[in-house]
Amino acid sequence: MFKINKKQIEHALLLFLIANVVFMSSCYGKTTKTDESESVSETKKLADELGVNINDYQFILANIDNSIGDYTPELVEIENGRKFDKRAASALKSFIAEARAQGLNVFLSSTYRGKYSQKMLYDRKVEQYGEEEAKTIVLPPGTSEHQTGLAADITDVYYDFKTKDLENTETFKWLNEHCQDYGFILRYPKDKEDITKVIYEPWHFRYVGIAAAKYIKEHNLCLEEFLELIKEP
Ligand SMILES: [Zn+2]
Repeated sequence: MFKINKKQIEHALLLFLIANVVFMSSCYGKTTKTDESESVSETKKLADELGVNINDYQFILANIDNSIGDYTPELVEIENGRKFDKRAASALKSFIAEARAQGLNVFLSSTYRGKYSQKMLYDRKVEQYGEEEAKTIVLPPGTSEHQTGLAADITDVYYDFKTKDLENTETFKWLNEHCQDYGFILRYPKDKEDITKVIYEPWHFRYVGIAAAKYIKEHNLCLEEFLELIKEP
């Protein structure tokens, strides 16, 4: 007669449990590894697909958490003494020229600001509002994107106020709709204030190159989010 004693059952159960643990941990290990290598290759793939590299000059990041110190690009004048990074100057000129060709009253309000003029602006806001609030309006010296030479505040000749109501002007509507075709993004969108730590600014455009600008627009990202996607592993 076929007999299984208690000891044999216990032994079989124990073997079964061990096998399960080994199997599950090997699965877990595999999954983690696959996920990691997939995200690394995804990141590389996106950068390659767009033909960009996070170290390209147009991805320099200046924000409240990232000071660019004394960074000073080579500058050229665009108009009325407003200067821009030489490498992106023709993009800004074409962007503005096309807007004007549409009959819009474009006003190039502010472009490059060195660390010193940023400091004066900042100090004035601190006096007015106190440091905490000032930081959300004007960035402290070294952390302003205007110091990169890749940022342009563009308003309307008849509405040169930097308030959110600028978004109602035809000028803004056109600029916002077409900026990516010239390599620009709206740097501080309405729905990204918690990431950019800057209030919505419908006047502040930033050069990132056409491929990146189109991707950012299409996927509703801000620059910080995009840089996370293309950063090197
Ligand atoms: Zn600005």
